[in-house]
Amino acid sequence: MNEVSPPDVPPPLHFIGGDFSAAVNGGEFEVINPATEALTCMAARGDIADINAAVGAAKEAFDDGTWSRAKPGFRREVMFRAADLMEARSEEIIKLQSLEMGVPIGPEHKGPHPMISRSAWNFRFFAEEQELAGNHSFNRDDTLLTYTMSDPAGVFALITPWNGPFMLSTWKMAPCLAYGNSAIHKPSELSPLSIRVLCEIFEEAGMPAGVYNMVLGFGQEAGIPLVEHDDVIGVSFTGSPATARDIASRTAPSLTKTSFELGGKSANIIFADANLKKAIAAAAMSIFMNAGQACIAGSRILVQRPIYEEFLAGFEQAAAGWKAGSPFDRTTRLGPLVAKRQYDRVMGYLASAREEGRILFGGGRPEGLDKGYYVAPTAIVDVDNSAKVCQEEIFGPVAVIMPFDDADHALAIANDSSYGLAGYIWTESQTTAHYVNHRLQTAMMWINAGFDRDLRQPFGGLKNSGLGREGGSFSREFYTQTRFTSFPLTPR
Ligand code: NAD
Repeated sequence: MNEVSPPDVPPPLHFIGGDFSAAVNGGEFEVINPATEALTCMAARGDIADINAAVGAAKEAFDDGTWSRAKPGFRREVMFRAADLMEARSEEIIKLQSLEMGVPIGPEHKGPHPMISRSAWNFRFFAEEQELAGNHSFNRDDTLLTYTMSDPAGVFALITPWNGPFMLSTWKMAPCLAYGNSAIHKPSELSPLSIRVLCEIFEEAGMPAGVYNMVLGFGQEAGIPLVEHDDVIGVSFTGSPATARDIASRTAPSLTKTSFELGGKSANIIFADANLKKAIAAAAMSIFMNAGQACIAGSRILVQRPIYEEFLAGFEQAAAGWKAGSPFDRTTRLGPLVAKRQYDRVMGYLASAREEGRILFGGGRPEGLDKGYYVAPTAIVDVDNSAKVCQEEIFGPVAVIMPFDDADHALAIANDSSYGLAGYIWTESQTTAHYVNHRLQTAMMWINAGFDRDLRQPFGGLKNSGLGREGGSFSREFYTQTRFTSFPLTPR
């Protein structure tokens, strides 16, 4: 039996001051199953009244000090318990994610689902980071000693997208909470289901009420009052550049600090001397995983001319292995896009592709699936890098493939982009790899490898792909306020 039964879904509610609650003004919105287009349930629809309640609870918890001034060992214990509980409830979380945004449940595995293990790892990592990281001291002979302190900063807004709803939320939450802050989390309106489990986990793990609060709803109604709230000291946002600009314009007057992790149009550069078999499998994984709804997707594939035709044939064969189907079928590799608005957007790009280039394969719905927001794995060729499909983030299982002559030609194409998030280079030559790496305008590079994460890495992007970095000590900088104290070591 490959088919897994979908989970039960209690109506999604806010989580404020340690309690689940409906919207103050009684608002609700529809949660649609992207694989069937059917209504799953109605969710609480937050607005300024809910945001005010949540920020009030967060501020009270921060000022009370049970968490913000707790011994690091206490915070470590709670975070570790939460991580264990996540892994214990892995199957339930994964099923809720499949229901809310269509990601396939994947093959059976021993132990917790890898995505949940990564979420738990975020918690364990920052639980230890906050306990072990030291501060600085500067000694100017015996006339002045200065030491620094990284204190909890206050109440943060954490605003997350739908494309990795649970795991991406833990990237922000883990450092924010570990360093002693309080948070108001606003998940995407397109993925309001799996986050309930995390609220229950925090309660069971012993996190004091009000430290973590969660308000469901739309950006315009809940997101804006949250980022504009006077008691919010910082906003960590993952989403589109357009939303980041709007948030920046609203936070500028109060000088609220911001961290933005945004979109990408990342180049995957494959040289003629690369291990082609590995490069093809990784290229397909990079753009078809999560139905292409990944910020770090290698969505522009650049292939050196001598192996161009061979690559196209191999890539088409690899794409055929990405079977589309129900997210609850363990053999499915390609689920639907998250929502009708995303499906229409991707279909619009496919129409442009027909005018600007040629669709090599795919380009529409997968065969046999007439319900759900499915798009077949697609490759676009014979297209210039100035085309809309090469410049804009499509956020679907759609790759553009372009040939190049030499390293400088590949760099010219790759750097002709308003984005600068990730990049991938495939070559057996270290000289070529480093020549290209040092000239490529991206913040994160992988050589002969697909996406892999070390939690100490500074995750973020250049150009329109982001502002600020999160991960390891970079997160500590954002989620704490650094102060210094000076005094002479001998009497003056
Ligand atoms: P989005 O910008 O539409 O929404 C993101 C979140 O912001 C949602 O919770 C939304 O409700 C909220 N929001 C919308 N308008 C707001 C406003 N004016 N004020 C405050 N909050 C507001 O993005 P999306 O479509 O949910 O996510 C997809 C985008 O996220 C893609 O561009 C993708 O590349 C990017 N992304 C980046 C990373 C990264 O780490 N760099 C990771 C995942 C996704």
